[in-house]
Amino acid sequence: MYQKLFIPGPVNVTEDVLQKMATPMIGHRSKDASVLQKSISQKMKKIMSTNNEILLSTSSGTGLMEGAVRSCTKKRAAIFSVGAFGEKWYEMAVANGVSADLFSSELGKATSPKLVDEVLATGKYDLITITHNETSTGIMNPVEEISKVIKKYPEVVFCLDTVSSMGGVNINIDDLGVDICITSTQKCLGLPPGMSICSISQKAIEAAQNVKNRGFYFDLLKLYEYIQKKDYQYPSTPSLPHMFALDYQLDKILDEGLENRFARHKQMAQCVQQWAKKNFDLFADEAYASYTVTTIKNTKNISVAELNENLSKYGYMISNGYGNLKEKTFRIGHMADTTLKEVQELLAIIEKIIPL
Ligand code: PLP
Repeated sequence: MYQKLFIPGPVNVTEDVLQKMATPMIGHRSKDASVLQKSISQKMKKIMSTNNEILLSTSSGTGLMEGAVRSCTKKRAAIFSVGAFGEKWYEMAVANGVSADLFSSELGKATSPKLVDEVLATGKYDLITITHNETSTGIMNPVEEISKVIKKYPEVVFCLDTVSSMGGVNINIDDLGVDICITSTQKCLGLPPGMSICSISQKAIEAAQNVKNRGFYFDLLKLYEYIQKKDYQYPSTPSLPHMFALDYQLDKILDEGLENRFARHKQMAQCVQQWAKKNFDLFADEAYASYTVTTIKNTKNISVAELNENLSKYGYMISNGYGNLKEKTFRIGHMADTTLKEVQELLAIIEKIIPL
């Protein structure tokens, strides 16, 4: 009944991590809750390479994305999109009455640092959103180059969506100058869905202080101020089961060694990309192909639904394309605790099912 998931999240969660979700409850206003949150923060700072404050949210990543664009835009947000999740960030801005403009790249292409420069040079914007790793198209943006441009505009709050890459790819938040970096538990971190995490800079905090209507649950300034005042406890009841499991899984991630973990993700990506190029084609511009999910162009016009049905007999699952790309592409997720050997096994089974 349970399948090995090679979809781009949620991912397989190891049994010991699942067991941590069943830890007996503690009071969320207890000293133990403060200790737990601080322990998570300290470890997340290492994974994100940041000294900025860490906020947890009992929501998936969308909640913090909405909170970021609403809490910190006073003037206008420049939303750069390379696919479905970039566009959603624009929809969130509009739904919250935040003035915003959407700058979309052709699907399969990365965000152009030159375009970022041109847009920010207009002086119209005080917040920018960038997708680090677009899970629909399999594009991993050149965030180093993009960040160099953004640094020319110190008045702009830089928000980065690393929902499907943090924990699998080296993203040095402080070097990049990211003000709000958002991720979710159910992707490269290897936990069940239901919690998200962000880092937040002093610049973002100061920006939020000048915004009047920041909403309620996802008011990032309120969350920040509350945890400072209340010894790292939250204004509302957090998902303590996620926190127990996250604290434990972060130890496992750090024990693996971040360099090893990042190298493993790159190896898995290279393996799937080579296979895709040999048998189909990559959807994403190869120079910017993701290390955590490969979107494969369905050049042979196979039925992805049928392939998945056959795969399920072996206990495996991959993903069809996202939205309009549904049958035009299919996606193989290679993230979290998945190993290269497991990826190779999956590819061998696909080859057995469809003669390539
Ligand atoms: N951004 C990207 C790149 C994603 O892949 C996803 C989810 O798949 C999201 C944002 C939304 O995150 P969540 O589902 O945790 O709300």
